[in-house]
Amino acid sequence: MPRYEFRCRTCGDTFEVNRPMAESSAPANCPEGHDDTVKLLSAVAVGGTKSAAPAPSGGGGGGCCGGGCCG
Ligand SMILES: [Zn+2]
Repeated sequence: MPRYEFRCRTCGDTFEVNRPMAESSAPANCPEGHDDTVKLLSAVAVGGTKSAAPAPSGGGGGGCCGGGCCG
């Protein structure tokens, strides 16, 4: 069952709720009983952004070109 994270705007606490997807947007009461809560973005989305690591510029000349000290 997916887990959703909520934050209570009354006491500022964050808590997690396990519930079916069909009720993902349903309101949830915080553990203190407050109902003024907002659902936080899920941390499930894990991307693979590391594949686009910048490659070192070719050339192999001096060590300073590109840094702004060459001209
Ligand atoms: Zn609360």
